[in-house]
Amino acid sequence: MINFNVPYLTGKEQEYVLAAVARKKLSGNGEFTAKCQRIMEQRAGFKRVLLTTSCTDALEMCGLLLDIRPGDEVIMPSFTFVSTANAFIMRGATIRFVDSRTDHPGMDEEAIEGLVTPHTKAIVVVHYAGVACDMDKVMAIAAKHGLHVVEDAAQAIAASYKGRALGGIGTLGAYSFHETKNIQCGEGGALIVNDPALAARAEIIWEKGTNRSAFWRGEVDKYNWVDVGSSFLPSEINAAYLFAQLEEQDAIQARRIALWERYHLGLKPCFEAGSLIAPHVPDFAMNNGHMFYAVCPDGPARDRLIAGLKARGIHAVFHYQSLHASPYFATKHDGRNLPQADRYSECLVRFPLYHDLEFTEVDRICAAVPEVIEGILQN
Ligand SMILES: *Cc1c(COP(=O)(O)O)cnc(C)c1O
Repeated sequence: MINFNVPYLTGKEQEYVLAAVARKKLSGNGEFTAKCQRIMEQRAGFKRVLLTTSCTDALEMCGLLLDIRPGDEVIMPSFTFVSTANAFIMRGATIRFVDSRTDHPGMDEEAIEGLVTPHTKAIVVVHYAGVACDMDKVMAIAAKHGLHVVEDAAQAIAASYKGRALGGIGTLGAYSFHETKNIQCGEGGALIVNDPALAARAEIIWEKGTNRSAFWRGEVDKYNWVDVGSSFLPSEINAAYLFAQLEEQDAIQARRIALWERYHLGLKPCFEAGSLIAPHVPDFAMNNGHMFYAVCPDGPARDRLIAGLKARGIHAVFHYQSLHASPYFATKHDGRNLPQADRYSECLVRFPLYHDLEFTEVDRICAAVPEVIEGILQN
């Protein structure tokens, strides 16, 4: 069986985890946490990075930092992971879901402004598959209406928009280091604070509503409860593991991009025949090798493709089910049809892509796909 995902080990994880254990200081915001934050800040030119236990947590910090309250409206794509929405739902916000683009599962930037009302507080973009949204357009709408922009950059490490690192363009950004992402530590994430006015409060919310970080730096003589907050810091064990991965980021990225390009070439006959639609990377974006997906002509074809590949020992998978139509949200949705989000829910298929996947395995998958599709078309 060719699995959909196999987490990659650089070989340094155990050494660093043991070093953290030997230090007998595993609580958060220690040496490995600082190292992870610094390498991310330096590499991408971010002003401030705070390591979190997940991207979900980083997004929840965004909801707190932007003071989202009941009655506030937040605009985001429907074709995304539940955490994008939960972070703001938990603050009592009303979510206005946007449809996806026709050429890409990312949000339709042209559909955002029509949803802005006097209650709108923020736009949350999701860089699906690590492919940037058109940030100039989004930032212009936000500036015109005085809105914050949060970038759910969970899948977007090492990716950029017109040369600018994703996660570093909006007010705030969030990365994920979940086991399924390019760089991982099982469960992990990071908040990227781009607005300097929010940096001090971000640190306080991160430290359970206390000014403990300022205390450790010697800026205050006692630490106190000064604001709301929660437990968002990962253990040094997680940070140590993550640092081993971050150090190898360039090599990991190069490998994933090479695999992605092999798929793109190998499936070209299917794309040219129109039996599959290729992933689209707009000129302003780049491909970070997070995901190789394709779009089938209809839902039944997608399901049969996944089943046919499974019968050949290949684990391909579908992805998000549109949030506007979910059991939790359907009754709260304002009733607008979001046909592209539904189309990607029904028709998108993701193929195995991980560091240790062999080129020969990609070739085997690329040979199996047209065979299965032909079988589907014949009956
Ligand atoms: C993976 C992912 C998340 C959640 O990340 P966690 O680190 O598992 O909390 C959120 N949004 C998107 C778009 C994701 O892909």
